[in-house]
Amino acid sequence: MSMSDSFIHDLRQALGDDQLLVHEQIEPRYKTDWSKASVCEPVAVVRPRSTEAVSAALKVCHAHGHPVTVQGGMTGLVGASQANDGDVVMSLEFLNGVQEIDATASCMTVWAGTPLQLVQEAAQAAGLYFAVDLGARGSCQVGGNIATNAGGNRVIRYGMMREQVLGLEVVLADGTIVTSLNKMLKNNAGYDVKQLFIGSEGTLGVITRAVLRLHAMPTETTTVLCALAHQDAMVSFLRRVRSMAGPSLLAFEVMWPDFFSFMTERVPGNVSPFERSDVMAVLLEVATGDAGLANDVLEGLLESALDAGELTDAAIAQSGKQADAFWRIRDSVSEFPLLFAPYASFDVSLPIQSVCEFVTTLKSQLAKDMACAQSLFFGHIGDSNLHIVVHVPGPRQTFPKDAIDAAVYELVKQYHGSVSAEHGIGTRKKPWLGYSRSPAEIEVMKVIKKALDPGQILNRGRVIDF
Ligand SMILES: Cc1cc2nc3c(=O)[nH]c(=O)nc-3n(C[C@H](O)[C@H](O)[C@H](O)COP(=O)(O)OP(=O)(O)OC[C@H]3O[C@@H](n4cnc5c(N)ncnc54)[C@H](O)[C@@H]3O)c2cc1C
Repeated sequence: MSMSDSFIHDLRQALGDDQLLVHEQIEPRYKTDWSKASVCEPVAVVRPRSTEAVSAALKVCHAHGHPVTVQGGMTGLVGASQANDGDVVMSLEFLNGVQEIDATASCMTVWAGTPLQLVQEAAQAAGLYFAVDLGARGSCQVGGNIATNAGGNRVIRYGMMREQVLGLEVVLADGTIVTSLNKMLKNNAGYDVKQLFIGSEGTLGVITRAVLRLHAMPTETTTVLCALAHQDAMVSFLRRVRSMAGPSLLAFEVMWPDFFSFMTERVPGNVSPFERSDVMAVLLEVATGDAGLANDVLEGLLESALDAGELTDAAIAQSGKQADAFWRIRDSVSEFPLLFAPYASFDVSLPIQSVCEFVTTLKSQLAKDMACAQSLFFGHIGDSNLHIVVHVPGPRQTFPKDAIDAAVYELVKQYHGSVSAEHGIGTRKKPWLGYSRSPAEIEVMKVIKKALDPGQILNRGRVIDF
């Protein structure tokens, strides 16, 4: 028996036939992620139906020193769930469902393979609210959200995924099961081990279950699309909104003029509520009704911003349908592959005070280096998170990706920002990790990886090597 035959034989012994796919049984969806940037040939796909099956599969891979790529919904944008040729793919799709909703403790226990949208709907059905929300909600899984410490649209009010996780169950590279399904908000008994796995992009362990924090449902929300007078008004408008809306502020999404006109002129169905489409827009969402901001306070806020010259216009959504239409302008980023290819996209963080200067500098630098480059800017600016999309007309083969990467990340470094705000490092940002983390921080990451996965079998080549 060859080494590879004996490996598959051991996997089959551990899992049985129904949790293992090999050869032609492996469907194309396991071979490429959302970006479709590359296609691989895994040696096997394991689809465990229990924590014990995850453990059994990892014990075999650990014993054989065989690399494993962990896959959730595969919507990650840094190539971390894209397997390499010859890997075992571990798909969490069958470890799916809500185990318990505890209304008294205001939390829910879910399997890692549960789609985010299903988690949101289950919380809502229990009269509660799960606070992480992002465009890929229908496809991404809660385990992937935890592994990437996902952010999204509500961070300004509720924090990132890390803030929503009370407990975790994780299987280590050698198959050890660590069950820590804590439900308490306070638990300072020694190291908070779960924090290591949140945002570790599957490099330290496989998340199988999680206890998630739930919040009171925002009873009523109001969406407002605002036109800023100029980009420098953004920071003072944010300060004004924060101080007047307080905890009622649910979202503060900024769209620079090029982005806003692209979305309202080129994406069918999107319409600007303003006379002009080349405006710098802020999409504001606030909790209103009994538990939120009174309507007259919201109107007062907008009037004071108009009087102060921060805004030139503001449109308050008059219905749920109109609010959805405003959000669609911001969320139409999924149209880029169709309308803006070839392009490079970036997710970076910057100190809020520097965001506008960064945008102006980068725009002029790109225009100087690549005369026909078009760049669009938008983001969760209340959380310091800027997204950048750069398009250069021409065939994909000659697209100057490396030059654009270097221009963006050098400037991020110069402004003391982060090369990854919410998407992680994966493989695509690995060369730039040292721009945002010190040598001492990187050394600690290596020590942790070495301790938990000495054979480097989990998501080999992602984030960090030692
Ligand atoms: C249209 C669109 C909009 C998006 N918007 C946002 C946004 O606003 N904010 C944001 O943060 N992200 C956003 N993303 C990125 C992506 O949706 C998130 O990173 C998401 O959290 C990934 O979840 P997933 O289940 O698809 O994970 P995958 O892509 O399958 O995996 C991502 C990483 O997590 C690991 N992983 C997955 N499951 C597990 C597990 N159970 N245990 C251990 N490791 C695991 C994988 O190995 C990989 O390293 C967006 C993506 C798209 C396509």
